[in-house]
Amino acid sequence: MKASSIILTALCVTIALRAQSDDLDPRNWIGHDRTRPLPPVVDPGVGSTPDQAGKAPSDAIVLFDGTNLSKWVAMNGEPTKWIVKDGAMECVPGSGYVRTLQCFGDAQVHVEFASPAKPEGSGQGRGNSGFFFGGMRYEIQVLDSYQNDTYADGSCASIYNQYPPLVNASRPPGQWQSYDILWTAPRFESDGKLRSPARVTLFHNGVLVHHNVELIGDTGWVTRGPYRAHPEKLPLAIQDHGNPVRFRNIWVRELGRPGRPEFFLADKVLDGYVGKYQVNRNWIVDVTRRDGCLFFQWAGEDFLVFATSPNRFFAKTTDVQVEFKTENNEDVAYFSVGEDGGMRAKKVK
Ligand code: MG
Repeated sequence: MKASSIILTALCVTIALRAQSDDLDPRNWIGHDRTRPLPPVVDPGVGSTPDQAGKAPSDAIVLFDGTNLSKWVAMNGEPTKWIVKDGAMECVPGSGYVRTLQCFGDAQVHVEFASPAKPEGSGQGRGNSGFFFGGMRYEIQVLDSYQNDTYADGSCASIYNQYPPLVNASRPPGQWQSYDILWTAPRFESDGKLRSPARVTLFHNGVLVHHNVELIGDTGWVTRGPYRAHPEKLPLAIQDHGNPVRFRNIWVRELGRPGRPEFFLADKVLDGYVGKYQVNRNWIVDVTRRDGCLFFQWAGEDFLVFATSPNRFFAKTTDVQVEFKTENNEDVAYFSVGEDGGMRAKKVK
């Protein structure tokens, strides 16, 4: 893409975003203004019944529709050993957590779950799983809490180790239950200090159980928090706690200004891109990986780049992109920085 079209695209996106927020601010409009843009039309989908999973709204990203696990991987990015059976994805005890390939920030999330129909164990040992935001940082507890007492902040629909649900709206084991979650991701300053905490509103089986509560940090078994700085968008994850809990009809609607889709790639994919890339005789660009993130050095600056596909990355601070390819059996990278578009560089180490 030429620099002029990149600038034009950025300008259009900026104008569109500003226009959208202006549209929503009542102070910018007189009452019943006929020129005020109408909201986008969304097919709301269909609600689930006990026997039949529903259909997501038309603007949702469907993460599981009952057929396959293409949107899910093991935490290290490898294929998961969880199985798909009778339209549900099921935890195989001992196989580990699963996470989404795509990363999400602020979002509306719908997920349905069912504990094993034949209850086994008690307390935390019965139908335990968990739905996580921020990778594995923030857990909304999934547990068979139907006539199964445990500590309050570990009950089904608790924000684990922080907030018990306002009420216990659990259904009996084996029956499908739902979470409808509004998630506001925490924000961090560039020095890692917390700017604003995570917030959760949660409906359990349609009943409000958390009303915009403020998380005090990471959830954890024996310790709470503190917050550890992380990117705004990270994968969603589901826990393997040793019980064959089932999930179905999982979808997400990104809120606010989600920007480009972002993906969390396996370490081994990122490692494949790490190395030195020769742009010309006197210029070598270093691509490195730190803390699971890819960086490249350009004009003395280290750019943190985010994956928008398995081989394309972009920075959020500057108009910078890099695309990795194999051409004629050579590993190459195309770097685009500002007006300098698509500079080919061959991997030399
Ligand atoms: Mg759990």
